Amino acid sequence: MSELITIDEARRRVLDSVTRLGDEPVALSDALGRVLAEDVTSGIPVPPFDSSAMDGFAVQSGPAAERDLVGEARAGHPFAGAVSSGSAVRISTGAVVPEGADAVIPVERTTTAAEDRVSVPDSRPGQNIRRAGEDIPRGAVVLLAGTPLGPAELGVAASVGRAELRCGQRPRVAVLVTGDELTEPGAALGPGAIYSSNAYSLGAQIERSGAALIARTAIPDDPGETRAKLAQALEGANVVIVSGGVSVGPHDHVKPALLELGVEERFWGVRLRPGKPTWFGTRGGTLAFGLPGNPVSAMVTFQLFVRPALAALQGGRSEARRAVARLNAALPRNPQREQAIRVRLVQSDNGLTAEPTKGAQGSHVLTSMLEADGLALIAAGDGEAAAGERVEVELL
Ligand code: AMP
Ligand code: MG
Repeated sequence: MSELITIDEARRRVLDSVTRLGDEPVALSDALGRVLAEDVTSGIPVPPFDSSAMDGFAVQSGPAAERDLVGEARAGHPFAGAVSSGSAVRISTGAVVPEGADAVIPVERTTTAAEDRVSVPDSRPGQNIRRAGEDIPRGAVVLLAGTPLGPAELGVAASVGRAELRCGQRPRVAVLVTGDELTEPGAALGPGAIYSSNAYSLGAQIERSGAALIARTAIPDDPGETRAKLAQALEGANVVIVSGGVSVGPHDHVKPALLELGVEERFWGVRLRPGKPTWFGTRGGTLAFGLPGNPVSAMVTFQLFVRPALAALQGGRSEARRAVARLNAALPRNPQREQAIRVRLVQSDNGLTAEPTKGAQGSHVLTSMLEADGLALIAAGDGEAAAGERVEVELL
């Protein structure tokens, strides 16, 4: 590790290495979490017609009067005739406002005088009517390329009639976990063994990023096997993520294997805690990350360096959402390295407060990620970050 670089510099080097993948049509039902690759324009107004906002009676607005009940308009079943000054049409929410009518009187404000007579109070034009195009005018751009598709985006796409959207292709991502001590959950633990949590936390982070997890492979601490498994992963994936085995111990075989396989180093070592021993390289368009094995470090470095790459590969925005919050208590600074402290965000009397998650914050204490809303980024320096100080929080 020659010279550590900053988080920002490391991110810049990652993003400089990204070439956006192509795009493809995706059925709306499969598009959750994908990145939109087109601007979506509405070919229709939404709602498509003037409709009733209430169950009641459609009338020509005017003073209170008794009207002849001449028919019914139900959702999906318009009334065929027209409403005159002396008549009314029973109408349900979402039904087309009949020709001639310009107001809807809610049913609870009317009295039925006889079976075909209804007594209505004063009304104003437009009362309880949803205008055509009130939500979306015809021709409006409702979603922009680069938008991540969540429930609201999918609902809006459906509301303008789109069955399919062009989305960025999903990066194919292989996760390889290294270490003789690693055991699959479900199997019995032998002496000196631990369960491999990184395979699952990283796998889930990948899927949350809209990418496709194509392999979850365990590699023993053996140079030959490390090279063989990495070679295989580099063939089929856009992004290869290795956890552990990247340091400088005699049983750390990842870096030499990647270099032998033609992956060029882009950085090694970040001025970050936890997450200093992070390696990044490229081979052609393929990205390779060597993340620290410690479970918190692996998740933090994924969030800070891999997630932006997966977003950019899909044509999405690489910046994570951030919030500014006040520390609830003083935190010692690290003299050399920026710290990523796992925090909960709590609304308090002095605004948004960042509270470190319960328990220790060591890089091996994976439970410190539980309930974390984000990573508070604490600049390097002497002394402490004071209670009440405003810090930036990268939201998870
Ligand atoms: P390493 O980077 O290989 O030196 O590993 C650093 C620490 O992380 C060691 O305590 C490892 O046992 C642990 N570790 C490595 N890989 C995993 C994994 N997949 N799941 C949980 N802990 C791991
Ligand atoms: Mg190891």
